Amino acid sequence: MLTNETLWHGKPYYSLDAYCKNTYHEKLYKIALDAGMTCPNRDGTLDTRGCIFCSEGGSGDFAVRSHPVRPMKDQIAEGLSLFREKKTGSRFIAYFQAYTNTYAPLSYLRAIYTEALEEPCIAGISIATRPDCITEGVLSLLARLRHQYPDKFIWVELGLQTIHEETAAFIRRGYPLSVFDAALSKLNAIGIPVVVHLILGLPGETDQQILQSVSYLNDRPVFGVKLQLLHVLKNTDLAEYYAQGKFEALTKEHYIRLLLSSIGCLSPDIVIHRLTGDGPKEQVIAPLFSLNKRDVLNTFHQECRQKSIWQGKFLHDTGTIDFI
Ligand code: SF4
Repeated sequence: MLTNETLWHGKPYYSLDAYCKNTYHEKLYKIALDAGMTCPNRDGTLDTRGCIFCSEGGSGDFAVRSHPVRPMKDQIAEGLSLFREKKTGSRFIAYFQAYTNTYAPLSYLRAIYTEALEEPCIAGISIATRPDCITEGVLSLLARLRHQYPDKFIWVELGLQTIHEETAAFIRRGYPLSVFDAALSKLNAIGIPVVVHLILGLPGETDQQILQSVSYLNDRPVFGVKLQLLHVLKNTDLAEYYAQGKFEALTKEHYIRLLLSSIGCLSPDIVIHRLTGDGPKEQVIAPLFSLNKRDVLNTFHQECRQKSIWQGKFLHDTGTIDFI
């Protein structure tokens, strides 16, 4: 039986929309920003090839980057005008999405975050980054901004993808799990809520391993999670691997089953910021079913109802996947 029906606004899980309605009394829409960042996995510091699944846009919605990078103010204004055309939304989240958004000189980071926080219609900012790019300088900058803008939120999104070191090495993530744990605890110590990115369907991972990554978050101070479906994108090393027949993308049925199991294993206190990935359409090679996001979500909700699954249902029963 759903015990959180009111808090979750009728959904079988605690969605970001429900959290925003509960906390800010309205749905907040995201404006994705490209701040012209790079990444230690790209610039040669750790590697030059990037993670095996990462596209030219740096794991964002930006299939092609604009050169030179346009000021945040202009990107926000452009995002706002699109929402206004649709007559949707009054407050927004400035989402620093493309590449590693704490990997730049502190003066630049201060300038771009401040530019977004100064916008009256921006309720807060969300910064996507890597745990090994949470330096002491970044922490003190975020702590200062938090006090400077007490009416706005600052969230940090950490790309963990998996807790399994073998998979992490294969995808060239470039840091061990202990680095994630350390960043998580430091961000919590300064009051910054953390959203964790996990990928479902990484090559070589069993369903059980995926659920272990999901369950790992339950005992930690995690605000939210994004459950991304692995996309094979054009011009990535993953695409080559896929073309050689070395792994198979998830089928829709398998993915839905994994999603059901994942939310069942997840603490009901963790906000689900995303249930499925959105690869740039023109770049997705597989799985193609994911391009019909509405169909995927409809099927998922239908199955939740039919199988009576809700977030946290299997919280104390994560030893087996046979329950769905
Ligand atoms: S850390 Fe992010 S931006 Fe960098 S290569 Fe990996 S997915 Fe791409």
